[in-house]
Amino acid sequence: DRPPLLHRKFTHLNDGDGVPGTSVRVMQWNILAQALGEGLDSFVQCPPEALSWSRRKYLILEEILTYRPHILCLQEVDHYYDTLQPVMAGLGYNGNFCPKPWSPCLAVEGNNGPDGCALFFDQSRYEFLDSVNIRLSAMRIPTNQVAVVTMLRCRSTGRCVCVAVTHLKARSGWEWLRSAQGSDLLRHFQNLVQKHASGDHAGVPSSAIPLFICGDFNAVPTEEVYQRFITSPLCLDSAYKKLSQDGLTEPQYTTWKIRPTGECCTTLDYIWYSQDTLRVDTVLDMPTEEQIGPNRLPSFSYPSDHLSLVCDFSFKEKE
Ligand code: NDP
Ligand code: CA
Repeated sequence: DRPPLLHRKFTHLNDGDGVPGTSVRVMQWNILAQALGEGLDSFVQCPPEALSWSRRKYLILEEILTYRPHILCLQEVDHYYDTLQPVMAGLGYNGNFCPKPWSPCLAVEGNNGPDGCALFFDQSRYEFLDSVNIRLSAMRIPTNQVAVVTMLRCRSTGRCVCVAVTHLKARSGWEWLRSAQGSDLLRHFQNLVQKHASGDHAGVPSSAIPLFICGDFNAVPTEEVYQRFITSPLCLDSAYKKLSQDGLTEPQYTTWKIRPTGECCTTLDYIWYSQDTLRVDTVLDMPTEEQIGPNRLPSFSYPSDHLSLVCDFSFKEKE
């Protein structure tokens, strides 16, 4: 007995003129580490029973199954080996996981190991080519933040895509670190893409491989790291801007919670895509304030303090 899950609708941006069966659905979600939710986060308005793993795991899986993404990018995963990996494998997904070197989860009594980033893909759609786990550096000094970068090939079209998932340093005062971490990720990305673009595709610019970078950037759109991504030579754009009337504005929130220090309603999560090769076709709406409810997130209706982002993309025609 519990309130219904948040019901969200897709906004369709194009008239479905893409080739059927070739679109790709990407989901980005910080699922809230079990150890952090129960141990360190202080979600003061959330009933403790709503934070139990026995409840949350079903809501997390229900959310993923509701949207059935081809590519799933998760942060704060501290139940990879015992839950997510085996369940997702049973659903036809392959995954890669990169734990944080000094996860704050390890400081919580009864923790289930470190949290980290996980990247899953639908094996019926994609063939695995390559994956690297990256520890992000800032001015060449290794940090506590990581990324998974995976290269995939579409089984039906033969087309490659490169996908990354990351979770940048949290909290105010660390804007410079997020910026350095973002730059480091962009650099890694460029190297990997160039490696795969060379050889028989010599001469083709690296941007010819469609890219997705999904993450909890812990940065609002005015921050330096956001600006670095917008102006990167990889020609990236943020998909959720397409939800707005003018197509240029990020949503008002991707996370909404109440801590002892007050309410936190802000935009920190993004799906970046290469705009020269990909087009956004549909975007999953953000729930309204009323749907989220007065106690905000997480809740009995939603298992994380971050909302999932889900988009369908199609490939732009080659000229
Ligand atoms: P971050 O500052 O990046 O934050 C880690 C997590 O804390 C994120 O998942 C973040 O969630 C969450 N968070 C953000 N704001 C708050 C808040 N106000 N209250 C509670 N949680 C919040 O951490 P680092 O990766 O840099 O790790 C440093 C932390 O780990 C330190 O707090 C340190 O105490 C602890 N640590 C523990 C060790 C151990 O004992 N094993 C070793 C080293 C560090 P979100 O992204 O959703 O905002
Ligand atoms: Ca968190």
